[in-house]
Amino acid sequence: MSSDFPKVGKRIAAAAGILFLLSGCTTLIDKPPDIPWHACYQTISDPHALSFRDTGIAFLQTEYGFPETPVNRVMLRFSKKTETAKNYRVGQYFSRNEIVDAEKGVFCIYVGVPPSHERFYYLLGHEIGHLLHPRRIDDPEMERFCNEFSRRLCEKENKKFNSNWENRKWVLQPKETANE
Ligand SMILES: [Zn+2]
Repeated sequence: MSSDFPKVGKRIAAAAGILFLLSGCTTLIDKPPDIPWHACYQTISDPHALSFRDTGIAFLQTEYGFPETPVNRVMLRFSKKTETAKNYRVGQYFSRNEIVDAEKGVFCIYVGVPPSHERFYYLLGHEIGHLLHPRRIDDPEMERFCNEFSRRLCEKENKKFNSNWENRKWVLQPKETANE
């Protein structure tokens, strides 16, 4: 009997070690493919942000014509992971425009800072500009257009505009939002 004790002890030690590893660090997993990207990030419901989005889409259309893909619905997200998505291996604090369903005209705009942040409207305006040609990505001409569009929209809506778009490393690691 006594010879069994060390074995049992080893097993307990091994199990405890595994438990420690599991609980000691956050294990990131791949996002399940059936979970859409927009479900991983925080919904923006600030009425001023929603109204700026609607005004911006209307302004885009009156000033620059119809977007190449019809725009019927644009969801807004602050690109910080939700509680449910906290273990997913996905990026945060980025700004971009996603075509969710081209046929139905559904998009999602992600903004790297929350609506209370001073750069929020400038970033949102830029992403609204991308709705004109949503498939033109990594295109310097399109980026310049979006900056100019955002400048005009922010001016019209009395929102602060920061034209220092090139120096936007902070978008990826905003100190102001890192601990929120
Ligand atoms: Zn852009």
